[in-house]
Amino acid sequence: MTLGFDTRLVRVATNGKNHPLSEPIVLATTYAAPSAASHRAMFLGGSTTFYRRFGNPTAASAARLIADLEGAEEGIVFGSGMGAITTSLLAILRAGDHVIASSEIFAQTRSVLDAVLRGYGVETEFVDARVATNVTSRIRENTRLIYLETPSNPLLEIVDIATVAKAVRPGIELYVDGTFASPALQSPLSFGATLSVHSATKFLGGHSDVMGGVASGRRELIAQIRETQILFGTVMDPHAAWLLMRGVRTLGLRVRRQADTALALARKLSVHAAVASVAYPYLETDPGYAVASKQMLGGGGVVSFVVKGGAVPARRFVDALQLIPIATSLGGVETIVELPYDLDFTAEENGSGNDPSAAAQSGTIRMSVGLEDVADLWADLGQALDSSRS
Ligand code: PLP
Repeated sequence: MTLGFDTRLVRVATNGKNHPLSEPIVLATTYAAPSAASHRAMFLGGSTTFYRRFGNPTAASAARLIADLEGAEEGIVFGSGMGAITTSLLAILRAGDHVIASSEIFAQTRSVLDAVLRGYGVETEFVDARVATNVTSRIRENTRLIYLETPSNPLLEIVDIATVAKAVRPGIELYVDGTFASPALQSPLSFGATLSVHSATKFLGGHSDVMGGVASGRRELIAQIRETQILFGTVMDPHAAWLLMRGVRTLGLRVRRQADTALALARKLSVHAAVASVAYPYLETDPGYAVASKQMLGGGGVVSFVVKGGAVPARRFVDALQLIPIATSLGGVETIVELPYDLDFTAEENGSGNDPSAAAQSGTIRMSVGLEDVADLWADLGQALDSSRS
């Protein structure tokens, strides 16, 4: 029997035995073995009851839950989204490898590829991945990885996973960071991605109280990533794994509601006189709409928009908000806003702070929509937009 998504979120595999409906938090960092031979077998067999950096029963339960949601053979959890990304990259990349990545990706992922891995001899080409042929036409003999993020942070650009996947030949991995959609709205593996990664700090955890990362894919790739994780120590704490599972139980309910509210607000923002433009993949006018509507089950809980006049009115706008706080991150139950280009340290470093296109971007607001009543959110946004003009 194929179970629905929400059923899989709350299902507990009892195996006919007494099973706690809330997973136990196992804190032990090490386990006693009855003999040297069984201790060695635990070590070699990848036991979750050997040493915590090698595996932990609570983290393993969280990984199984995530793999199930993603329709993957196997999953793995990490101490942060960046832990998931860096470990998954380092697991497969070697000096001389070529990577193709979308240019619009999370700034710190870009820094890892561009600044860190380049120094180790891995060459990354950044392309505008909204046009799939920009990616596929760059594939070379030594291409080892295509790295996409969709929807992207912070401008919500959409990449057509299935079209890119068709060009992927054996030996090339296709990693997709789907943090902004969450597994409730997008299944990258079903479109041909070989690894689906998320910052679990966002929608999966969902309550702004747990930091984590997850990855899912075929068994042999996850095993390779796990070996790297053991070496780098990017493991998830058992308390965090428990909070992640607690959050995931309501993922479907939360994300569908957040997407409904986000779409309603995006529509209102797009006709407001103080707003220059709105990016939201489920707005019919959005450049990503055609692909998003076949690849996603909703536009997600994040809306990005540009306040007319650039950084100064944009800062006035966020300062005038009374209900919605200014905070980084996304995917929690509370609506928050930030000015992503105010926080972009690479803009300062490379001098693009003086670039007119960067100045226009500096009016960008990234809003993560929570579970509040849409009327209250709109009342706050409306009054703050009016203040931005004075
Ligand atoms: N990927 C995306 C798309 C993100 O937005 C973020 C964080 O904002 C990350 C990865 C990194 O996640 P974490 O902060 O959990 O390390």
